[in-house]
Amino acid sequence: MTEIHLLDPETVNQIAAGEVVERPASVAKELLENAIDAGATAILLEITSDTTGITKIQVTDNGEGMTPEEAVLAFQPHATSKIRDITDLSRIQTLGFRGEALASIAAVAEVTMITRPRRGGALSGTRVLVRGGEVVEVGEVGAPEGTTVSVERLFYNTPARRKFLKSRNTELAHVYGVVESLALAHDEIAFRVVHNGKERMATQRSAGLLATIAGLYGADLARSLLPVEGRLPFLTIRGYISRPSENRGNPSQISVTINGRCIVSRKIAAAVREGYGNLLPKDRYPVAFMDLAIDTGLVDVNVHPTKREVRLSREHEILEAVTAAVRGALAGHDLSRDSPEESAQQQIVVDNKQPMQVAREADAIYSAGHRRPGLADKRLRRTEREGEKNLLPEMEPIGQVAATYIVAEGVDGSLYLIDQHAAHERILYDQVVEQRDAESAAQELLVPVILTLPPKESAALREAIPLLRGEGFVVDEFGRDTFAIRAVPTALGAVEDAAGTVRETIADLLSGDVRPHTDRREAVTCIIACKGAIRAGTPLTPEQQRLLISQLARTKTPWTCPHGRPTVVALDRKRLEKMFGRT
Ligand code: ADP
Ligand code: MG
Repeated sequence: MTEIHLLDPETVNQIAAGEVVERPASVAKELLENAIDAGATAILLEITSDTTGITKIQVTDNGEGMTPEEAVLAFQPHATSKIRDITDLSRIQTLGFRGEALASIAAVAEVTMITRPRRGGALSGTRVLVRGGEVVEVGEVGAPEGTTVSVERLFYNTPARRKFLKSRNTELAHVYGVVESLALAHDEIAFRVVHNGKERMATQRSAGLLATIAGLYGADLARSLLPVEGRLPFLTIRGYISRPSENRGNPSQISVTINGRCIVSRKIAAAVREGYGNLLPKDRYPVAFMDLAIDTGLVDVNVHPTKREVRLSREHEILEAVTAAVRGALAGHDLSRDSPEESAQQQIVVDNKQPMQVAREADAIYSAGHRRPGLADKRLRRTEREGEKNLLPEMEPIGQVAATYIVAEGVDGSLYLIDQHAAHERILYDQVVEQRDAESAAQELLVPVILTLPPKESAALREAIPLLRGEGFVVDEFGRDTFAIRAVPTALGAVEDAAGTVRETIADLLSGDVRPHTDRREAVTCIIACKGAIRAGTPLTPEQQRLLISQLARTKTPWTCPHGRPTVVALDRKRLEKMFGRT
């Protein structure tokens, strides 16, 4: 270390550029945002690359353009037409406001801008060339209204940064990601992306969010989505979400835009996920496109250099509204259309007996009077209840396949297959949740079950006693590593081998997985539902089948079990006809 000195402006600019310009995608983002802010209705992004990577990024817009003076000024650090002072920030409508993007990009690349303003009737345009932060050339050129900015030789004077660039395809993928999120936030603009002369993406102007989604990700995905809507006095939510069957291992497919800005928000993504509750398996995330319009006074956009994050006032209410909107969208829909056609067909083909034949066989079994399943009867009676809304289409059971799936016919001639174990699990799950903490959740055992455990497990059980109590297990410590189980959840009450089931349940509980505190209660509930539910391979009488279906129909989310697997697979009339070539 020698002396303290002021950095020269070039170095200052290069350092500032580091924050805004990280890679070619950041250049694309800033240029596209400027085009959007300029009121463009059509934007073309042209990318050129060779084996060394991306060599040129060019954005052409039909926005308002700039006068010669503005064109030069635009490259000055902190030159912006978008705000005058800090108070303007609280009602900001544009994507840019810091006035540093063009200056930062030009500090580390060669930038050519050609622009002609819409207003003022200028007959020609201006061409500005800036290299390494220096204005090299300003001249007059013939040009259409609007602006074209080309960026070449990115990081030519900052080799350290150049070294951090990834492969050409990785950088391209980042660029496409930027366009996707901007296009989703601006369905009022037609975007077109061309790479080395080939069109890669195109969206139409004002065709609506769903059409934009179709343009970016294909019509199939778009068709499968459910619309979401929500509203508070200061907030409007609209969007599209996937059915539970269309899920991903991480939340990266949850896209969020706030007031036309693409935002990265773990909290909003989590709120969307929350809306699915246990319709999705743990650790799975939906595909979602959420567009939030929030009073600008509640959104602080000035918290992140690339403006990817915002700070929200009344955040809690906003997150709750998002969750409620998602939940509402899912509740109103017939999620059976979920099951991909192929898998539904396979399940039908596996057991290619005719449903009527199956029904006759089943009836024959019961009328012959053997293996009358009293246990199943007891279990089903336990879950009987009245008065809830019926959330399944009306259907009548025809019989059982493999003593595991109930075959049913809808009033409109659709065919339904119901996984009896999964369906009963759903029924029990809802019931256990409803009875949590209530006295009725526990059923006393005539004879307490005595359980002796190895030291490690008994320590775990001791710790879990309060949690288990809430679910209806009454467990007392009885001696060293010995416990007396005096009551079990009502949902398990009809189990014949209570001791065995209790042991199994506790073993499951103690076997890892269940550790994170907030998930434990959920896990306990799932285990109880699973242990209490009628098993696959249990023959059911037609009456029992009917009972199971009607109980399932009255659960809150009848189409999936607590683990997120389907309970019902539907082949509607149209699909049946298509399968047999009748259409
Ligand atoms: P900011 O967008 O934060 O204002 P920029 O450095 O990105 O800062 O742009 C500086 C200014 O240049 C903008 O405020 C705008 O007036 C002008 N400008 C940049 N790009 C365009 C464009 N494509 N069309 C019209 N004006 C533009
Ligand atoms: Mg800008």
